[in-house]
Amino acid sequence: MADDLAGEVSADVVVVGAGPAGSSTAYHLASLGADVLLLDKAEFPRDKICGDGLTPAAVHELILMGVDTGSWTRNRGLTVIGGGHTVTMDWPDQKSLPGYGLTRARASLDETLARRAQAAGARLHEGVTVTGALTDASGRVTGVVARRGRGPHATEITARARFVVDAGGVAARLATSLGIEKAPSRPMGVAARAYFHSPRGDEEYMESHLELWSGAPGASDLLPGYGWIFPMGDGVVNVGLGSVSSTANATALPYKQVFEQWTANLPEEWGFTPDNRIGALRSAALPMSFNRTPHYACGLVLVGDAGGMVSPFNGEGIAPGLKAGRYAADCIAQALARPTRAGADRAMSAYPQMLRDEYGGYYQLGRIFVALIENPRIMRLCTYHGLPIPRLMTLVHKLLSDGYERSGGDIDDRLITALSKMVPAV
Ligand SMILES: Cc1cc2nc3c(=O)[nH]c(=O)nc-3n(C[C@H](O)[C@H](O)[C@H](O)COP(=O)(O)OP(=O)(O)OC[C@H]3O[C@@H](n4cnc5c(N)ncnc54)[C@H](O)[C@@H]3O)c2cc1C
Repeated sequence: MADDLAGEVSADVVVVGAGPAGSSTAYHLASLGADVLLLDKAEFPRDKICGDGLTPAAVHELILMGVDTGSWTRNRGLTVIGGGHTVTMDWPDQKSLPGYGLTRARASLDETLARRAQAAGARLHEGVTVTGALTDASGRVTGVVARRGRGPHATEITARARFVVDAGGVAARLATSLGIEKAPSRPMGVAARAYFHSPRGDEEYMESHLELWSGAPGASDLLPGYGWIFPMGDGVVNVGLGSVSSTANATALPYKQVFEQWTANLPEEWGFTPDNRIGALRSAALPMSFNRTPHYACGLVLVGDAGGMVSPFNGEGIAPGLKAGRYAADCIAQALARPTRAGADRAMSAYPQMLRDEYGGYYQLGRIFVALIENPRIMRLCTYHGLPIPRLMTLVHKLLSDGYERSGGDIDDRLITALSKMVPAV
């Protein structure tokens, strides 16, 4: 996009990164009347390594951003395969969540969200890389320095703001440059995905594989990790696998080799042949369970992967990023209306609190879950004995997909809420 960003500029808020988290923050802030500068080093549409799966929790947030998803590929639920069992479960139609999910290629999803933020009034600038933070004598973040273009034609930009949001994804370069490191004791995932043309690209259910087999199930051909096949519509599927570790040392999954062996052994009807493959297999890390905090300090707000917001239960990061962006916007709007810094910081203290209330106990349960399933024996026991019990799976489905009602709801909702309140929030 051609625009006139150059030299010294100012705004109420600078948002670094126009992925789902940054665009949500910018959209909600701009809708509340704030002057927002939204900067991304990429130019849209741009790709992002992802499974492209949107649970009902993500759909809920898209609705709140006024995104028209009418023509997007819908799914009815999830088919879970493991331990010799195949269980299909519909997304429950809930008080707060719709009974369907979506898939959308990130090139398209992220551009749509960035344009929504722009349409709401955010000043979006693409091809602008934020290279560092501006701080005052007290260490408070007062803006960013950025670069547009490369080499001799690169221009430097200084953007001043009352608040800076790092929504720059898993690398969180801005936060890291200010010494906000990831916590080694929090779970970290790694996952890889590729696309295929497939006769089953228009299936109504997303598929989750709790075991990856390189040969016949039952033989000693169990590969490490978990997999998914998400129908994208138009005869294309997103196929991927990942593994999760209960600490920051992401597992050394030989993902290329495992992917080739696993997909070669899946039923032929999927059509996972070299000819059907679209593009390369690509991998990235998943920062989980709030592995980078504080989410607010001294003028700097962390949102999305930058704040380690991926769910340890299912590797979903879009819904939490969108929701956190909405929470951050609410708090920043309140803070902008305070005449003093002390008052603004008091208003901002509501942001980490809102995140803790929403996800703190739930992500703590997720840490326990990861520590358990890290042990392949426990995982296999759960898979073999748990999957065939429909009553249990209804609860597990809600638990793993963050599809439970926080207040009220049925007995499963109340049980998950009670459990997440029994553990100390992360
Ligand atoms: C293989 C894989 C599969 C996944 N599958 C799913 C899934 O199916 N569903 C789901 O919900 N989640 C999934 N996730 C997680 C999900 O992709 C992330 O949680 C999500 O993208 C986080 O959004 P974000 O906005 O925080 O960061 P990002 O989407 O990473 O966006 C960050 C943005 O910041 C920009 N940026 C970075 N640094 C700078 C800088 N210095 N200056 C300017 N701009 C900058 C980048 O260009 C980018 O546009 C998956 C992850 C992986 C790796």
